[in-house]
Amino acid sequence: MSPENEFRYAQAMEAIGDGVYDWDVTTSVVYFAPSYYTIAGYDPGDFPMNFESWSSRVHPDDLSQVFKDVEEFMSGRTDVYSPKFRFRRKDDSWMWLMARAKIVERDKDGSPTRVIGVHTDIDQFIQAEEQLLEARDQAEKASKAKSEFLASMSHELRTPMNAVLGFAQMMQYDPRTNLSEIQNNHVSHIIEGGNHLLELINDVLDLSKIEADHLSLTLEQIDSAEIVADAVLMSASLGNARNITVVDKFSDAASVMLQTDSMRFKQCLLNLISNAVKYNKDGGVVTLNGQETEDGFLRISVTDTGLGIAKRDFAGMFQMFHRLNGDPTVAKEGTGIGLTVTKLLIERMAGRIGFDSEEGVGSTFWIELPLASNHNVLIWSSAMKVGIDEIDSDHHTLVSLLNKIMNPSIDRDELNQRVDEFIDSTKHHFQREEAIMDVCEYPNHEEHRKQHQELLTQITEHVAGWRAGTSMQDLSDLWWFLQNWLFKHIMKEDTQIVFYARDKAQLIKKSLQDLD
Ligand code: ADP
Repeated sequence: MSPENEFRYAQAMEAIGDGVYDWDVTTSVVYFAPSYYTIAGYDPGDFPMNFESWSSRVHPDDLSQVFKDVEEFMSGRTDVYSPKFRFRRKDDSWMWLMARAKIVERDKDGSPTRVIGVHTDIDQFIQAEEQLLEARDQAEKASKAKSEFLASMSHELRTPMNAVLGFAQMMQYDPRTNLSEIQNNHVSHIIEGGNHLLELINDVLDLSKIEADHLSLTLEQIDSAEIVADAVLMSASLGNARNITVVDKFSDAASVMLQTDSMRFKQCLLNLISNAVKYNKDGGVVTLNGQETEDGFLRISVTDTGLGIAKRDFAGMFQMFHRLNGDPTVAKEGTGIGLTVTKLLIERMAGRIGFDSEEGVGSTFWIELPLASNHNVLIWSSAMKVGIDEIDSDHHTLVSLLNKIMNPSIDRDELNQRVDEFIDSTKHHFQREEAIMDVCEYPNHEEHRKQHQELLTQITEHVAGWRAGTSMQDLSDLWWFLQNWLFKHIMKEDTQIVFYARDKAQLIKKSLQDLD
């Protein structure tokens, strides 16, 4: 930038109220424009124009990160420089600033000698962000309470419903009841409505169980062909009335072994097949196919010759209670929960789900589950639990994020987002675990805390390495590192806390509430 442009730039920044500075790196003198002082409530010249007097006003908790960001920026390791930090106002309160800067002069070796930049007051954004997070937390807590409640109501809801259905069936089949035609018709309505309600109850309960993290999987090595053949057999009669055939092109092929929960796997298949029948045309066909993917999954697809789904409806397909206004004669019964439950179950088994569809032609819904030989996925199971609910739920979140990070079909933006999410969740988890260790008076607390700090540094370094490289190999290295530390840390270190956490569930809950 020419000196004239620099001057104009600085004037423009002053005019919009940002704090402008001009830093002579060699002498450590910093020229602070009057606006720099006034945004933080100072009068121009209130503090000396040098780096030290500025850094002494940065919040001590943010200082080391600020130094690190400045160092990265000055060494040219990163082009992105927008650190956020707290700065002390004249009245001793803290304000949030965001920095942007440009190196405008270098010496003959290329080292920066002069930097100009602006610091923007982002207090309002941070406040808005905090309010949003608070609102999200509240909503999550409310949703968790709802899920916990429903998950514990399973018995209370199912038992009376089964009684209604059982007695209605007895009335129809017991010759002693001798129902008239009209009465028989009424009882049929009770059974039909009851079955529908039971299906809804089962779906809602499954959903709550997954959300409340009460769903336990029985992982075993299974032959996929057997389960697919079973599911096809169970659904063969579904399409009889409308002359729809279910064709199994999968289970005749060579068997593929999966590491999964066979009952839940079958439940997902049945959901997809019953949809493919329900939303098919009379006389239509449902075909099951399967193939292995390059990254160690088995993809099973269920293709129908039905009405299809319009592109505009693609986005909300897996959302709860999402039902399309298709031909009402084709799909009168349904709840709009089946696909949501299927997606959650599949993801719970470290799998993936998706679909493609063409209006008027038909749809293909597919699921992918890890092959038994695939060691690149972690399936959350009771074997990984340490026995403290709060810690287990954090570990579960981390495992799910790891599996999402390794999904080759996610785009770069989402991948970046997931990696950031992973780092944030790890920090949050460490904080919570440290609070738990505190309240349990865990003797190795200090050592464990130190390990957390080291791990965080290593994770951040690995992520920075991956971001600088971004090849598939870098990603796989990052993933292996994350998977290894998480697993080792859980198995070796975290399991020891549990001995000190006995009978302290209430204390732990309270200490984490205080933390939030
Ligand atoms: P339900 O079938 O109980 O309504 P789902 O969650 O299983 O609930 O499905 C949600 C919606 O997605 C359905 O109402 C239907 O509109 C659409 N849908 C699901 N599967 C198919 C399919 N194979 N073909 C066309 N539309 C489908």
